[in-house]
Amino acid sequence: MNLLIETNALRSQLYGYLQTRLDDAATENRNIAIVLIKIFELNHMEINIGFSALELVSKRIQSRLLACTPHHEDVIQTAIDGFLVVIPSVLNQGHLKIVAERLSREIRTAIRIEQETIELEPSIGIACSFDSDNSGQQFYKNALLAMENGRISNRNNVIYDSQFKAHMKKVWDLKKDIDLAIHDNQFELYFQPKIALRQMAVDGAEALIRWNHPEYGLIRPDDFIPIAEQSGQIHAITEWVIKSACQHLSVITKKCPDFKLSINMTASNLSSPDLMLLLEDSISIWNVSARNLIIEVTETTLMGDIDASINKLTRLREVGFGVSIDDFGTGYSSLSYFKQIPATELKIDKSFIDSLLVESNDKKVVSLIIFLAKQFDLQVVAEGVESKLALDSLVQLRCDFAQGYYFAKPLPLEEFLKWMLHNQ
Ligand code: C2E
Ligand code: CA
Ligand code: CA
Repeated sequence: MNLLIETNALRSQLYGYLQTRLDDAATENRNIAIVLIKIFELNHMEINIGFSALELVSKRIQSRLLACTPHHEDVIQTAIDGFLVVIPSVLNQGHLKIVAERLSREIRTAIRIEQETIELEPSIGIACSFDSDNSGQQFYKNALLAMENGRISNRNNVIYDSQFKAHMKKVWDLKKDIDLAIHDNQFELYFQPKIALRQMAVDGAEALIRWNHPEYGLIRPDDFIPIAEQSGQIHAITEWVIKSACQHLSVITKKCPDFKLSINMTASNLSSPDLMLLLEDSISIWNVSARNLIIEVTETTLMGDIDASINKLTRLREVGFGVSIDDFGTGYSSLSYFKQIPATELKIDKSFIDSLLVESNDKKVVSLIIFLAKQFDLQVVAEGVESKLALDSLVQLRCDFAQGYYFAKPLPLEEFLKWMLHNQ
């Protein structure tokens, strides 16, 4: 019995079909595009709703996609969770984006099956005939590459770009190398001072991870944290961060007992059942106090599963850790939730600080965030302060703390300690 659902023969048939479409388009001087759609959640859903309900969902999606396309043959179901839509005539990239957005909207619109309401988030990769070398297989691969690129960078409806291949090679290399990097001590924490504005003195620092990669050199976190978050390797990285942070804290707090170190957590860190134990074990091994450690979570992360986030943060607070809401102002959190979040600190996103001096509306937003924070007894940190003018403006608005290149860039431990000596 052969139960292989996607066979090589079927895939060849698909490439052949795309080849014919490409040839026809070339003869008629048209550009065509393919929109590759994968709904990864459908796989998990089989466990919850069963296969027959899953098939119904899949059929419902197919008919919605068909309703958006002029010809029946333009929608191909490639798997229970996958579709390919051919756009038979493409005017330009703008046109393509509009079509892809429409298809995406159709899938995102809630589906009701039996008593369940199902909301799905598709991954979409788009390839255009003018980027393919006229091979059906390459055409498909380009769409797949665009989709993978979007998944890594948390973007949807990504159109293939010729630079993706090199970029994705780097992504795959990094993913492959993360485990070894932890083992070989290639990660390093950099420290950026946090300044208490009333005293104009160092209050603590934020620990920011760097990767000294043997081939690619120094890599910033934005290039590997999202990859690690997706692959699950983030837990090993965060464990390393927590342990290193506690180790460094144990040295620094001997001289500066009130020094506070902030560390960053992702959404999956926050939802991990092991997080509390890991934090408690680490502070106890390194003999540091929970009140010297601040856990930073972005506003967007919190809003993902707000009730679970509130529970987790409440437990962190009970143990004595500080809790900071990072990138505040970018996540559209509603005020009704805001008042329930057990935070100690709020970090105003850098984008507001950048335009503090030029945009009077942003100054109002910053002023409002500071006012709001004070109402809820939260400390306010401005991040990304790059100039004396911005700093003066923040002091005038009675902001509590600031971080930014104006004071210091994130520094390796030795340099940071020297910086502290000169600036205390
Ligand atoms: P973030 O938590 O918002 O950190 C602030 C980022 O802004 C840092 O970038 C910092 O170097 C940069 N920055 C600080 N002051 C200035 C300034 O005045 N001007 C400009 N242009 N930039 C400034 P970095 O170190 O590249 O980190 C980027 C992001 O990566 C962080 O954003 C954080 O979300 C994440 N990250 C960093 N370290 C870790 C970590 O250990 N774990 C996790 N999960 N995420 C981390
Ligand atoms: Ca942060
Ligand atoms: Ca931030």
